[in-house]
Amino acid sequence: MKKACIISVGNELLAGLTVNTNASYLSRELMAMGIPAVSCYTVGDRIDSISRVLSQAAQQADIILITGGLGPTDDDLTRQALARFLQVELEFSEELLSRISDFFKRRDLKMSEKNKVQAYIPAGARAIANNVGTAPGIMAELNDKIFICLPGVPEEMTQMFARSVSPRLKQAGGGQVVLSRKLNCFGTGESVIAEKLGNSMQRNRNPLINCTVSGGVITLHIVATAADRAIAEDMIEKDSQQLRALLGDIVYGRDEQTLAEVIGAKLRKLRKSLAVAESCTGGLIGKLLTDVPGSSDYFKCGWITYSNEVKVRELGVDGALIEKHGSVSKEVAIAMAEGVLARADTDFAIAVTGIAGPGGGTEQKPVGLVYIAVTGPGWKDIQRYIFSHSRGHIRYRTALTALNMLRLKL
Ligand code: ATP
Ligand code: MG
Repeated sequence: MKKACIISVGNELLAGLTVNTNASYLSRELMAMGIPAVSCYTVGDRIDSISRVLSQAAQQADIILITGGLGPTDDDLTRQALARFLQVELEFSEELLSRISDFFKRRDLKMSEKNKVQAYIPAGARAIANNVGTAPGIMAELNDKIFICLPGVPEEMTQMFARSVSPRLKQAGGGQVVLSRKLNCFGTGESVIAEKLGNSMQRNRNPLINCTVSGGVITLHIVATAADRAIAEDMIEKDSQQLRALLGDIVYGRDEQTLAEVIGAKLRKLRKSLAVAESCTGGLIGKLLTDVPGSSDYFKCGWITYSNEVKVRELGVDGALIEKHGSVSKEVAIAMAEGVLARADTDFAIAVTGIAGPGGGTEQKPVGLVYIAVTGPGWKDIQRYIFSHSRGHIRYRTALTALNMLRLKL
């Protein structure tokens, strides 16, 4: 199996001034052509750092891609570093110089003496044409390894990669395919999921199972490497079924599917309707539901009942209930949901009330305390949670948890 390593060169990357979008672009492209990146390095504008990392990369990978440091200034040192690593001299190319000077002529600009350095490439290497900038790329081969240098400017790099590098790498990849599928989970922690998966997450397994977490959503990535697409698809399908069997209703969807989409599809199929009443989420549940095209088929309306007065006036929550239990309480959450069902005349209702913070928490009712009520024909579900982190996180987590409670009932 062919493997790649990506090296990003630039002090601005190390200083955190530029986000390394080149490495993520290249990782995605390489993955799509069946050549997974096994490591990514970021190094400063120094010949010794670049050539040291080149040797490390050559020990792990068959294809080494370097971006940045091909410009004309004294801090652009990639071509020197590559020459040093390959133990060859930099050679002047008349043809490259004329291409660079043409670039300036076409724009009615005078070429600086400094640009001449870009007409040098390591002996035995070949240049990769750059139609949008002055820095030519470099492709060199040594002991069956391919070294490719591209400019740091993302627009130049992506264009050169697509036009000149990708065809060569597809050939080098030998038709191998890497496919991945995501299984999206909600409602439990990653350690619980890991326990349920047993030894499926072993690192030397194919398909490989990776796990990421964001906003309470746990995503399992099934990555299969195979000689052709049909085999890889089959491996992924088998694994996917196996993981779903182990995890049950913790899995809510695959790939880019959201909780709101999954609920929407179920409500549409059942021809049922939904309305919501939100306090601490301030409309976020309604937003997530209506992000889904066609949600008007099942989503009827929402109330943002932030103040007690409006909870009473708009949803018919008993003022005495708020007085007795406080607005952040199980009783009020249920009353809100019942008020929604009665007023919106829907099949299902979701209501949330909580303390998103950062202020407003007490010993009994800390920041992050949330009550979520979900009601439907003849049943109601009420849950109490204490979420943590920021206001934004608490609100998002509340919204997703509410949607998930409804999903589990549908
Ligand atoms: P040029 O010939 O245009 O000078 P170069 O190869 O010398 O190209 P750099 O000078 O390292 O490239 O970077 C040029 C620009 O590209 C800078 O604005 C830099 O921030 C941006 N850049 C460099 N590397 C990356 C990267 N890995 N991801 C995103 N942007 C980058
Ligand atoms: Mg640079």
